[in-house]
Amino acid sequence: MTMSRSRIYPMLPFDQIQERVVEMGAQIAADYEGKDLVVIGLLNGVFQFFADLTRNTDLDFDITFMQVASYGGGTESTGEVKILHDLDRSIRGRHALIVEDIVDTGLTLNKVRKLLLDREPASLKVCTLLDKPSRRRVQVPVDYVGFTIEDHFVVGYGLDLDGKYRNLPYVGIYNPA
Ligand code: 5GP
Repeated sequence: MTMSRSRIYPMLPFDQIQERVVEMGAQIAADYEGKDLVVIGLLNGVFQFFADLTRNTDLDFDITFMQVASYGGGTESTGEVKILHDLDRSIRGRHALIVEDIVDTGLTLNKVRKLLLDREPASLKVCTLLDKPSRRRVQVPVDYVGFTIEDHFVVGYGLDLDGKYRNLPYVGIYNPA
């Protein structure tokens, strides 16, 4: 399959994402005011959303990252998760917020939640830019959702196709046909 930008149909423009991110940041700041918060970015896809969200969350909190690889046959994850890069600090007794790019089947997030719950945080919540609930294979609580989308493969604003398109400032649907 040849990759081409002409196959990308813009879905969420940069300005619309920014408007939503400001709302989400305000909500998170209100919910965690006065609490010891650790915000955990799940790399790699989250990097653009994470920067915009944290910049718009007017609180003092710790920032750390985790990188996991989902094993799968083909395009779907299996929920078998390998930690490539672990947190650089403890979340024990602290309020932890996982920030994700997209929740699809939910298998990856489910596994990461279990890993982190074992470390006994005071609370554990999840924030995602995009949610594809129609694809869910395991129920996993998602507390903050930027946009709920249909079952499309999307790229841009951090999301890739074979490593490409993460730098686009918008989210678009990739149409391989
Ligand atoms: P899950 O375990 O929920 O099925 O997989 C979540 C991960 O799959 C996301 O973090 C993301 O890396 C990848 N993913 C799921 N849907 C899409 C999509 O539409 N576009 C891209 N680029 N990645 C996706």
